[in-house]
Amino acid sequence: ATPAATMVGTTIGAKHGILFKGGDVLERVRDVDTVVFDKTGTLTKGEMHLTDAVVVSPTTDGSGDVDSDAVRADGAGASAAVESDVDERLLLEVAAAAESGSEHPIAEAVVAGAKKRDIDVSDPVAFQNVAGQGVRARIDRGTALVGKPDLMREYDVDPDPAADTMTDLESEGKTAMLVALDDELLGVLAVADEVKDSAKEAVSTLRGRGVSVFMLTGDNERTARAVAERVGIDADNVRAEVMPDEKADEVESIQDDGRRVMMVGDGVNDAPALAAAFVGTALGSGTDVAIEAADVTLMRDDPVDVIRAMRVSEGTLSKIK
Ligand code: ADP
Ligand code: MG
Repeated sequence: ATPAATMVGTTIGAKHGILFKGGDVLERVRDVDTVVFDKTGTLTKGEMHLTDAVVVSPTTDGSGDVDSDAVRADGAGASAAVESDVDERLLLEVAAAAESGSEHPIAEAVVAGAKKRDIDVSDPVAFQNVAGQGVRARIDRGTALVGKPDLMREYDVDPDPAADTMTDLESEGKTAMLVALDDELLGVLAVADEVKDSAKEAVSTLRGRGVSVFMLTGDNERTARAVAERVGIDADNVRAEVMPDEKADEVESIQDDGRRVMMVGDGVNDAPALAAAFVGTALGSGTDVAIEAADVTLMRDDPVDVIRAMRVSEGTLSKIK
């Protein structure tokens, strides 16, 4: 494209909050045939809220809802919870103290949920973010773990007593996480996130244009599929439980089939995948690292702007030919 055409395209894009990093990017966008969306914060609002707190005893699996005032009085799970020293408030207190060291949307939801229930949230004494897994923190009460089953196993906590509870919550599209204190499993928390209003429209418009749509997430398979179904992405095109350092490999493997991939993401953990993709697209609300790694930034955080970016790219080229 001529410098003038590039200038026009860049200007039109900017008017819609679509920032292209240079003329070659503007030209590349029209050749994209596959769009890979990150889930959390990209297809979903990334505004998670706490939905469930379930105390799990080592022998009996429980099930309960955090919105109810007391531990449920029916069923075996409830009686186990009543006998236990652990209650929902301790579960929340431990998790919130550990998560207050993290800026992850999950962490923010846990902290906000605890505060909403008048639980004092203390700062962790020491804190470690385990990418794609959760957090480990030294808090007043001991050493806390919040995150996936694999994180528990890594520190010799058996996640199995909570397996059924996890499955139930994940089937509802919630992200469930385990909470442990000093090697003891306390229970399960779940957070939920709404899909963005335009996510479904973006997916169907892309597919209507013959563009394949994938979803890539560090979240578990069950939650990922539930969300994919809501936005109209085929279960076959869902890549779940992808660790942050594997996201770029996953994009490359999709590109190995000869596809020209636009990766759309917002997080630090998306940055390598954004760099690896034919076109990397970051959301304006995303982390600086993601924006730096990306070729395009969508300032409005709207998945539909992916299509607008394609139209700008096409328009620019057709005008100069
Ligand atoms: P995504 O790819 O969906 O943006 P991440 O890679 O950031 O998600 O996280 C993947 C998974 O790791 C989350 O779904 C959650 O199960 C777990 N996880 C990450 N950070 C935390 C945290 N601070 N607390 C609990 N779980 C976490
Ligand atoms: Mg994300």
